Order: sequence, then structure tokens, then C-alpha cells
Amino acid sequence: AGKSYQFMMRTRQPAGSVTNQLYLVMDELADLYGNGSLRLTTRQTFQLHGVLKQNLKTVFSTVVKNMGTTLGACGDVNRNVMAPPTPFKNRPEYEHADKLANDLADLLAPQSGAYYDVWLDGEKFYAHTMENPKVTADRAFNGFGTNYEGSPEPIYGQLFLPRKFKIAVTVPGDNSVDLFTNDLGVVVITNEAGEVEGYNLVAGGGMGRSHGKATTFPRLADPLGFVKAEDIFHAVKAVVAVQRDYGRRDDRKQARLKYLISEWGMDKFRSVVEQYLGKQLEPFRPLPDWEFRDYLGWIEQGDGKLAYGVYVQNGRVKGEAKKALRNVIERYELPVTITPNQNLILRDINPSWKDDILSTLQAAGLKDVTEWDGIEALSMACPALPLCGLAIGEAERTLPDINARIRKVMDGVGLPRSDKFVVRMTGCPNGCARPYMAELGFVGDGPNSYQIWLGGSLNATRLAEPFAERVKAKDFETFLEPLFAAFKAQRRDAETFGDFCARVGFDALRAAQASYIAP
Ligand code: SF4
Repeated sequence: AGKSYQFMMRTRQPAGSVTNQLYLVMDELADLYGNGSLRLTTRQTFQLHGVLKQNLKTVFSTVVKNMGTTLGACGDVNRNVMAPPTPFKNRPEYEHADKLANDLADLLAPQSGAYYDVWLDGEKFYAHTMENPKVTADRAFNGFGTNYEGSPEPIYGQLFLPRKFKIAVTVPGDNSVDLFTNDLGVVVITNEAGEVEGYNLVAGGGMGRSHGKATTFPRLADPLGFVKAEDIFHAVKAVVAVQRDYGRRDDRKQARLKYLISEWGMDKFRSVVEQYLGKQLEPFRPLPDWEFRDYLGWIEQGDGKLAYGVYVQNGRVKGEAKKALRNVIERYELPVTITPNQNLILRDINPSWKDDILSTLQAAGLKDVTEWDGIEALSMACPALPLCGLAIGEAERTLPDINARIRKVMDGVGLPRSDKFVVRMTGCPNGCARPYMAELGFVGDGPNSYQIWLGGSLNATRLAEPFAERVKAKDFETFLEPLFAAFKAQRRDAETFGDFCARVGFDALRAAQASYIAP
């Protein structure tokens, strides 16, 4: 008998938005062809794990025929475009961010018909691509950079990009999308009438690195400039094309845009983008402070309806919780949104359905966010073992237990239950759950051991730094207790753990560990 090769399938969901029909189909596919669970990801997409090779075509074509797609979810192309998972119907800037995420996904979708040839025997089901006239007209490359005009891939050319490319769109103040971890971040700037004036752009972010290779590192995106509304597609194409033409192709570990910008410096990068664009970028517009928003719990949409953000532990929809979610989503024909923190927002809820929805979800263990521990509700882990081929260690399966142990240590040193901070864990340094932005990040570096990263911020604007290596999971209590005790003794007012670590510095934290005497 041949081997039963298993695959992971990932969808593309710009802004995390999922129709009612597609959710129900994904839920069914998980049972029929996957491992019985649905995984919500940190880029607002679905992953199905455990799909057997002989079922791939059925699964892909079912997704596409139900107006989903997987085109551009993987590979050296633009990946899923993120946007705040907001259900608001009365906030034009958010509605615009959502639309722009979809337009950019269309703009940068691979054009080759091979996808349809392989999965649909050539049948064309253009769920998103090719049916947006504005985007289709704009896809032409206007001859700047290497000219692939007339080629099947006018933007990507013959070789596609050197590496994956990630974009997030947001509005001023809302950093629900982890904006600075993207190759390109777009901030919608509106005037007082709610009309879009243009966009602030940031570029050069990325998480992935390798252990023991100092030439690989996580990096935050830096301000690139401001473009007027009518220039946004050209500006995005110019950034993508500069990376296409100058990003390194000889070494995949150096091929992300962040390394090009790090090597050139932002001034040189900006001037080459401007050459491609044929005009100068305007100065970056001032922005208010960023806030992390998770959109969990009940939210007024602004049109008389409600939305309900459900905390899904590590994004894994399974068991009774999966059945209950399907139940309410099917019964009330709800569309949903996947959040950048791997949670699920149920939208378009009539207020009279509220009690039934709550009691159905609660009976299946899907507690309201207020009933979860604050550390748990903010935390994220990647799939890791046994589902990811790159994993060195555990993440999804072990983080709930580790969160509970962290809380116990905090209790032990007298930190209040209301204290919470961002804990993230990945099974390898690739960083899919963005651990390098966490206030306390665990990155698998050996069997049952982790690198510990400290000093990120709740609003995801500061990179954490590596504090220790090969810390055994069984030793987390003795490792963390002195740090939490120092935090309790020396914190300023409402300072969070990440802000504290960044303020006092690693030498002080190490000294606190060295001199600690357990009570
Ligand atoms: Fe796999 Fe590493 Fe990504 Fe986790 S961070 S899902 S282990 S590649």
C-alpha cells in the first residue's frame, strides 16, 4: 500500500471575513477530510490539518465552489492580507480598511490559471480574483522596474517573489493586526468627513529567524511615507516590485524584505520605491498612540445588530465547542470573522438571539472572555508538534497548562489576578504566533526547552529581546518567580510586565534572578 501522505490546507480570507456558507463548509470538511478540528490562524485564515493526499482535490474544489480560496495562502507571493476584525457598520475608516484588504489581495493574487487547472480541472471559479474591474485594470505594471507587461504574471514576473510577503491594513490607533510585523503595513487616513485622504505606509517588518544565526532576526516595520488615496495600488506594487527585483534570491533565510531594508537603510529603500513609483512619497502623517484591541465579548455593530467575539483557546475549534459554534452559526445564518489573535467573531446577531447564543456556547464550554484568566485570553500558540514539520517543541498542546503555571507563580509573589500580559509560544524560531512581540515569549529550541524573550508591549509596538536559552519547561517556576517578584517590588503604577522588563533592563533582571531567595 502507498503511504498516506497528510497535508495542511490554508485558506485566504482577507480581513478574516468568512461567509456563513464558507464557515459551514469548512466545519464539514474538517470532519470529513481533516482531523475533525478547524484551526484559526494568526493571519485570520483557516487551516485544515491531516488532509490525505487523495482528498486534496475534493477539499480544494469544495472550498473554491463555496466562494473561498486558497490561492495565495502559501508560497512566495503576497499572503493573506490582514485588517482589524471589526464588525462596525458605522465607522467608514474600518469599512475602508476591510475593502482595501480585499482589493490588495485581488491586486496581488497570482494570475496563472494553473491553480484552476490543478484543483478544478480548468473550471474557472473566480471567487475574488479577476472580477474586480478597478483592481484588474490596476494590475498592469506600467513598465516600472523589470517590465513583465504581457506576461501571465504582470506583477510577479517569471520567478515570483524571493520569499513570502505579508501586508496588514489598519486605521489610526488600532493595532489589533500586529501592524509592525508585516512586510508592508498600510494605515488608512481619513478626513473629518470620513473620506480617505491617503495612507501612511510602514515597511520591513517580519518575525522569522533561525536559532544560532545572528544574521537572521525579527524586525519591526519602519515608517516609509504617505501616499494619496489614488496612488495606493501603484505604491504597493512599487514596494512589491523593489523586493521582487532586489530581494536576495541566493539565500532563503535572507530573502524577506526586512533584510533588504536593513541592508539598504530606509532612505535608500524609499528612494528606489519612489523611482519605481515615478513620484515622491509624502512625509509620514502623525498618528495617535497604538492600542491592542481584541474585539472579544459583545459589540454593538452600529446598525442595531450585535457581534460576539468568542475566545477560542489557541484558535483550535474542536469537540463540543465546534458543534455549538456550528449550531448557532447555522441556526442564525451568521457570517463570522477570524481575528489576528486566532479568535472568532460572530456577526449580524439580532439582539433577541443573544440569550440563546450565549447559553448554547456556554453549555459547550465556550465561556465569555470575562470568565477566562486574563493571561490565557491574551495568549497565543502556533500549532507546532505534532502538526508542523518545522516544530522542535510543543506549543498549542502545552500553552494552556503553562499559562496556568504562570498565574500560580504570579499568585505566589502576590501579583493581583487583574494583572495580565501577552504570553506567546511557538515550537520553532519561525515565529508564526509572533512570539518576538510578546511580553513573555517562549520559542522552542530543543526537546522540552525554550528560548525566553522578554520586553515586548501590550500594544505590539516594541520588539522583545532574547533573555535566556534552553530553559527547560519543568524549570519555568524557578526561572520566572524571581522576575515576577522583582516586578511586584519595583513596578511603577500600572506598568505591565513587558514595560517593566524593557525599563529596568536585562542586567537588573539577571541580578534579581541571581540574588533571589525564595520565601
Ligand atoms: Fe511550525 Fe515553527 Fe510556525 Fe510553530 S512557529 S507553526 S513550529 S513553523
